Amino acid sequence: MKLENYIQGNWVAGDGEGTPLINAVTGEEVAVATTKGLDFKDILAYGRSVGNPALRKMTFQERGLMLKKLGLYLMKHKAKFYEVSFKTGATKVDSWIDIEGGFGNLFANASLRREFPNKPFHVDGEGIDLSKGGQFMGHHIMVPKRGVAVHINAFNFPVWGMLEKCAVNWMAGVPAVVKPATNTSFLTEAVVREIIASKILPEGALQLICGSARTILDHVDSQDIVTFTGSATTGRMLKANPRIINEAVPFNMEADSLNCSVLGLDAAPGTPEFTLFIKGVKAEMTVKCGQKCTAIRRIMVPENYVEDVQIALGKELARTNIGDPALKETRMGALVSKDQVQEVKERVADLNKTAEIVYGSLDTVEVNGASAENGAFLSPILLLEKEPFKNTAVHNVEAFGPVSTIMPYSTTAEAVELSHLGMGSLVASIVTGDDKIATEFTVEAATHHGRILVLNQESAKQSTGHGSPLPTLTHGGPGRAGGGEEMGGMRGVKHYMQRCAIQGSPTTITEITGIYQQGAKYKESPEHPFKYHFEDIEAGMSLKTHRRTIMDSEIANFANISWDHFYAHTDITSLGHTIFEKRAAHGYFILSAAAGLFVYPNKGPVAANYGLDTCRFMRPIYHGDTIYVRLTC
Ligand code: NAP
Repeated sequence: MKLENYIQGNWVAGDGEGTPLINAVTGEEVAVATTKGLDFKDILAYGRSVGNPALRKMTFQERGLMLKKLGLYLMKHKAKFYEVSFKTGATKVDSWIDIEGGFGNLFANASLRREFPNKPFHVDGEGIDLSKGGQFMGHHIMVPKRGVAVHINAFNFPVWGMLEKCAVNWMAGVPAVVKPATNTSFLTEAVVREIIASKILPEGALQLICGSARTILDHVDSQDIVTFTGSATTGRMLKANPRIINEAVPFNMEADSLNCSVLGLDAAPGTPEFTLFIKGVKAEMTVKCGQKCTAIRRIMVPENYVEDVQIALGKELARTNIGDPALKETRMGALVSKDQVQEVKERVADLNKTAEIVYGSLDTVEVNGASAENGAFLSPILLLEKEPFKNTAVHNVEAFGPVSTIMPYSTTAEAVELSHLGMGSLVASIVTGDDKIATEFTVEAATHHGRILVLNQESAKQSTGHGSPLPTLTHGGPGRAGGGEEMGGMRGVKHYMQRCAIQGSPTTITEITGIYQQGAKYKESPEHPFKYHFEDIEAGMSLKTHRRTIMDSEIANFANISWDHFYAHTDITSLGHTIFEKRAAHGYFILSAAAGLFVYPNKGPVAANYGLDTCRFMRPIYHGDTIYVRLTC
C-alpha cells in the first residue's frame, strides 16, 4: 500500500516505488512512502494563500471552539488509531500517551480562548504612557504571521508530535505543513485522514507529507515558522539552511537530551521517596522503550546508596514483561525499527567503554507473543559509571532506547554539577522529602534544564511524572536540547504571531486594540451601558453617575454589617502617627457604594457581575467626601 500525502486539497500518492515502512513487531511491510514528484514550493504557497487567510480571520474564540470540536471528533475514532499504533511497537500505554496525549493538546489549547481577546489578534501586556501630558502612548499587538508552520517531527510520537504543535499554530491563526518521520508516518497519516474527513478545519490549515522532504526548507520565507524535533545532528544541519538564515525564519529546535533524575541525599533505602525514585526511573526506561525525548538517561545517586539502587532497579526491570505490544500483559513493546535497535546497541557500546552493564544484555531478550528475530526488541540496559566526573561519555552519548546509567555523587552541589555536564536538557527531576535540598538543586540546576520536577510523597499521588511535557507548561531546553521552546499555554501561541509595538494617542490605541486606554476620549453613552448587548458595546463607551456624600454614620453601620472593625473605621482616637487624618470609609464600602451608583437595576442583557480583575484602595475616603463613578467599557 502506498501512503498518500495530503497536499493542496487532495490526497496524492508520490511517484516511484517508495520507502517500505516496517511493522516493528513482525517485520512485515505496512506501507510504502514516497514524496517523489511533490512540489514543496507549491505546497507551502498553498498553505500561505488558502489556509492562512481562512484561519487568520477567525477570532481566538472561533479557533478554540474548532480545536475542541476536532478533539471530540478524534476521540470518537481513537480505537482505529490504537490498532495502527501497535505496529510502531508501542504498547497500549505508550499509544495512550501518543494518541490521547495528542488530543489533550487540542483541548488544552482550546481552553486558552478564554485568555485571549475575542478578536483575530492579541493585545499583549499593558499600555505604556510615553508622554508627560498623557496623550501619547505605546502598546503591543500580536497578529498571526502570514506564512505556514513547517513541522519536521521525530519518529517516536507520530500523533502527539503533530498535535502538540498544530494545536498551537491553529490557535494562533496559522496553517501547518506536517512532515512526520518517514518510518512511523503511517500512524500520522491515519489521524490526518480523519482530521480531513471531519471537515472541521478550514481547507489549507493542514497538509501532510509522508516521507522524505529534503528540500522543503529551500522554500520557506520570512513569514513562515519552522519547528524541528529530532537528532541534534539533523537539527543543526537544517538550522544552517541559507534560507533560514537569509529570511530570518524562526527555527525552533527540540533535539537530544541527556535528562537526569537525582535521588536526594535524604531519600535512603526504605523511605517512600526511594521507592518513588525506583518506580520513576523504571517507567522512564521502559515506557515507549525509552524512546522518549524526556526519558531519564542519567541516574544520580548518593554514593552510599548506589548498590541499593542497582539492586532495586534490577528487580523492577526483571519484572518488565517484554513482547507483543497488543497483549494486555506486555509492559514494554518493540523499538521503532531494527535500525534503531542497532543504533542503540552502538551507543551502548560507546558508554560501555568506561561504564559497566549491570542489568540486561545486548545479545538476548526474552519476548512474549512475538518473535525476537523478526521484531525490533531489546532488553532494558542499566549501566553503572563509577567516575562520572572523569568519564564523560555518559553526559554526551544519547542511546535513544531503554538505556540509562547510574552514577554516584556526594553532595547536592555535586549533583547539580553532574546535571550541568549534560550541557542542556529538557527535564531534570529530584526525588527528595527535604525542601531545602529541593530548593538548592532547583535554583542551582535551573540554568541547564527546561523543566525541573520535584517529587516527594506529597506530590507523587497527583504528579504527572518526570517524562510528561504538559501543554500548559513550556517544553524545550537549552544547549544540547536545542535551545527551543514550545507549548506553554499562551506563550507557545505567541511563537506563531508577530509582535508589533504601536504608538499613538490613547483614543487611537483604544480604537485599534478594542481596550479602553487611560486618557482616551470617552464616548458618552446615550443609554446606560447595562442596556446594551455585548456585541453593541464599544471600548470607551462611558457613563458618569450622580454623586453621593459618605456619612460618618454609614461607616459605622458598614463596620457593624461587615464585622470589619479595623481601627481606622471605628476608633478616631487612635489615628495619631498613622496615614489616616479622619475616620476612613472601608474600601469595600466604597466599592459597594459604587455599585449602588452605577448598577442599572432593571432586568436587561446583563446576567451577573462575576468579579473584579484588579482592584486597589489607593487613597482613603473620609466621611464628608463626595464620590461618583465613571463606568467605562
Ligand atoms: P532524525 O533522524 O534527526 O529525524 C528527525 C526528522 O528530520 C525526521 O522527520 C526526518 O525525516 C527529518 N529529516 C532528516 N534529515 C532531513 C533533511 N535533510 N531535510 C528535512 N528533514 C530531514 O531523528 P529521529 O531519529 O526521527 O528521532 C530521534 C531523535 O530525536 C533522538 O535524538 C531524540 O532525542 C530526538 N527527539 C527529541 C525530542 C525533543 O522534544 N527534544 C523529541 C523526540 C525525539 P525522515 O524520517 O524522512 O528522514
